[in-house]
Amino acid sequence: MTLNLQKYINFLFKQNTKEKLNNNLQAIFKESKNYSDNINDPYYQCKNEELLEVFTTSWSGIQEEISESMVYYAITLYWLDAINLELYRAILQELGSQKLITDELLVSSYWMFWKKQNKIEKPRRYSFYSFLEFIRKMGVDPLSFQDFVNTTKKLFPNMKLSEREIEIGNEIERFIKNIQERPQYIEEFSSSITPDTMKYLDFYVDLELLNNLAYFSVKNISKQINLEKKTSLANFQKIIEKEYDSRKMRTVPTVIDPVLEPHLAKFDAKAVLMEKLAALPKEQMKEYASIKAYSSPKNAQKIRISFLGGGNIGNMGILVQHDNNAILLDFGMSVANYSIPRWHPSLKYVRAVLVTHAHLDHTGALPYLIRPENGKRWYATQTTRVLAEKLLYSTSSILRSKGITKKNASPFQKVFLNNSNLINLFNEFNPLKINKTVEVSPDFNVTPYSASHLYGSVSYKIDVFGTTILFTGDFSADESELFSGAKLPTDCDVTIFDGTYYNRETVEEDPNTVILQAAETCDRLIIPAFSVGRTQEMIKRLERLRVSAKRRVMTTGLAADVSKSMGLRAKFDIVKNLSADNFENSDIVVTGHGMLQGGTARKLIDETSSDENTGILICGYQAPNTLGFALKNSHSIAKKRYHQNIFSAHISGHSSSESLNEFIDKLSGKKVMVHTPDRTVPREEHKGLIIPKYNQEIVLKNKV
Ligand SMILES: [Zn+2]
Ligand SMILES: [Zn+2]
Repeated sequence: MTLNLQKYINFLFKQNTKEKLNNNLQAIFKESKNYSDNINDPYYQCKNEELLEVFTTSWSGIQEEISESMVYYAITLYWLDAINLELYRAILQELGSQKLITDELLVSSYWMFWKKQNKIEKPRRYSFYSFLEFIRKMGVDPLSFQDFVNTTKKLFPNMKLSEREIEIGNEIERFIKNIQERPQYIEEFSSSITPDTMKYLDFYVDLELLNNLAYFSVKNISKQINLEKKTSLANFQKIIEKEYDSRKMRTVPTVIDPVLEPHLAKFDAKAVLMEKLAALPKEQMKEYASIKAYSSPKNAQKIRISFLGGGNIGNMGILVQHDNNAILLDFGMSVANYSIPRWHPSLKYVRAVLVTHAHLDHTGALPYLIRPENGKRWYATQTTRVLAEKLLYSTSSILRSKGITKKNASPFQKVFLNNSNLINLFNEFNPLKINKTVEVSPDFNVTPYSASHLYGSVSYKIDVFGTTILFTGDFSADESELFSGAKLPTDCDVTIFDGTYYNRETVEEDPNTVILQAAETCDRLIIPAFSVGRTQEMIKRLERLRVSAKRRVMTTGLAADVSKSMGLRAKFDIVKNLSADNFENSDIVVTGHGMLQGGTARKLIDETSSDENTGILICGYQAPNTLGFALKNSHSIAKKRYHQNIFSAHISGHSSSESLNEFIDKLSGKKVMVHTPDRTVPREEHKGLIIPKYNQEIVLKNKV
């Protein structure tokens, strides 16, 4: 392909105002078309009025049609404000995962982002670091500093990096080379790293090394500290954190005790209360004792809640801490780009992680956090453990099937390619029982309540020195085929709750009516549903509506595995290797990949695309850049290709907007809403409702 990207981008750069650009839309597309030798690409044939539809139609869903030219569209749409930054990145990410994004495209798309930020939005300093941050979100490989400089020089001769920037860039490259050649000198190398270099490293080195570097750096800091008089552990922690922050370190050292050791004599330690220890399981006693010995409730004046992720639907992670101790609620991963919650210095003191349920946006980053011997353990119901194991292992096989290996994986993806990380994670599990209170870490008393969202899902009530916090996790107050609807306490001092359907009143038809309609009109019916939860709900409904009595209902793959291991009581067959050939008239298949990004459902839909008598029943939330979304909203490009009969039924594991409002009205304490779509704002009647931003902190005065 001989696309003149440089000329195209320069052309766009010259267009100063948005109005002018809009006027020139026609010209831009003529221009971009001239640069393409791929005139047959269907996207080139779409008319301008279809332009806006291009971005909502599945970029990733219609895979064969994705081509390099899509980058032109993405850049143009972003420049015109027709798509936001999030979607811009999502498109680039999809291209990246299919190896369609070259170094030049990567660098250009960054400069386009930078230009736009400076011209239209808030100015942004450009640096190699902000470039790495930009591409990390896309989950593609970072470029070396030299490649970045060379490509920039070639494409944009007028862009100049500062002397300091070049110095740092060279230092990083030298450092990486050294450490790869002589890993045995890691301790010496780590003492020579400047703070500027340190923050670049997590883009390049693997997690093992990152952990070691962080550990040695903190150890070095600790040695340099001279404690003159006795102090509390909390004070010492603050001193270390201050030093740590001033060095702009972002990585997680997983072992902290040897760092304390040189100073132990200076600590104002308190005796351990033996009766508290006696109630603990043996394996916990050791770790409990070491913190309890230095802890004192009178130091714990404040309780701080920090939102490290999960404001939107994605990487959930909430830190709850008092002056002596901290716990974590969920630690998830955004499936779109493998991003995990933000780093916070107190993460290293966390011993207990409470996990609400198995979905990856709540568990996906656990293998990154919980490493052997780092003293961290996670707590959830047994069922959550079983399901999390299935989902996390299937994540690693999906990565492998996409051709991602240790060589081309991002640091976050890499964790999943090493099975021992997952094995270690499941070794550090502690089961909790519904309605049974346990002190999971000193002064954190936790009670799980059933959340009615998924098998094994719970909400947690946390009591810290008499202050109570409820974290609902994902929850549904509504009754479903599988669950009776969550009944949660409403009198906590703070309630942090799932706002998935906040302000989204149900307008759709009764789902059962749609299911019956689909079953009556179509010969064959494909129901793509999430493997864990939605599939089982759908199979139950088909039985209750007496559809299964007349027609064969099948499931396959992970959805079948979960249905079997959860002991689903309903009539269904498990089939292997399902294809259009053995998918017969009157068969109904319910199977995974609810948004149609892959799997058997996608394969069957592709194979039956010309058959108008086959039905597709979409259920539940569809993310904007998926085929499921395009079909549900009958986008013309998707319709041209898929001729099946499309139905859509709203079935969800989250509270409806109406029952969520009811729940909010009952709450007596502070109300905090998370897990909600971008740009959600509180309704007028919900004064004081907090929708936290990343890293926002809520501080509560302790009652003691
Ligand atoms: Zn969930
Ligand atoms: Zn969730």
